[in-house]
Amino acid sequence: MATSLIDSHTHIYGEEFDLDREAMLQRADEAGIGQMVLPCVDRESYERMLPLVAAHPLRLFPCIGLHPTSVKEDYQAELTYMREQLELHRPTAIGEVGLDFYWDRTYEAEQVAAFREQLQWAARLNLPVILHIREAFSKAFEILRAVDLPELHGVFHSFTGSSEELEEALSFERFAIGINGVVTFKNSSLKDYITRVPLGRLLLETDAPYLAPTPNRGKRNEPSFLPHTAQFLASLYGLSYDQLTEVTSQNARRLFRLPTR
Ligand SMILES: [Zn+2]
Repeated sequence: MATSLIDSHTHIYGEEFDLDREAMLQRADEAGIGQMVLPCVDRESYERMLPLVAAHPLRLFPCIGLHPTSVKEDYQAELTYMREQLELHRPTAIGEVGLDFYWDRTYEAEQVAAFREQLQWAARLNLPVILHIREAFSKAFEILRAVDLPELHGVFHSFTGSSEELEEALSFERFAIGINGVVTFKNSSLKDYITRVPLGRLLLETDAPYLAPTPNRGKRNEPSFLPHTAQFLASLYGLSYDQLTEVTSQNARRLFRLPTR
């Protein structure tokens, strides 16, 4: 039997799936996606994912965290809510958290403060952290070093940085690199250097509903599209589809401590 794939980053609780969520989950099942990690972006997303996770235990795994683009004036209240939730349910990971200076730098100082605080949660609870970093690698690397939390581990999710940024990301040895559909895009240079990621640190993700891989580029992304990215990476690494997915599923299971399924 082929390995069950893990979509290590998917926002299937979003309203984009309100009309066909169960059919979409059925397609994921048929495509061999056994488990999915659901990153949180704000309080609303967390409240949307809870009933979904309750309906699909052992298949969907919830995280908690305030996404950098969700950091606004009210970010302290959002963090307080999340701290309370952490007391009630242990999430699979802290995330997605980090810095995003691509869309807006208005709340740069607040993004930094929220990021630092959430890294402390991950360290205190010994949970993996899902990092979202866009146009902010040097600042993020500086913070990751400055917090000096040697036990910190996790993933640089949706990695689309340069080859230099990849080298530096890899120097954080307890972190994996999450790759999504962007690697399949014709105009992405990621394919030229991504195989420098040791196989044991590679994770597959869709980041659905965004960034659908070729040949579905431009469409709403969903977990059942993950095999396109897996096949593309398998060719880059010179492996069979089964060889690549066996390792990446193992990596995801180990990092997020998922049950075997
Ligand atoms: Zn995401």
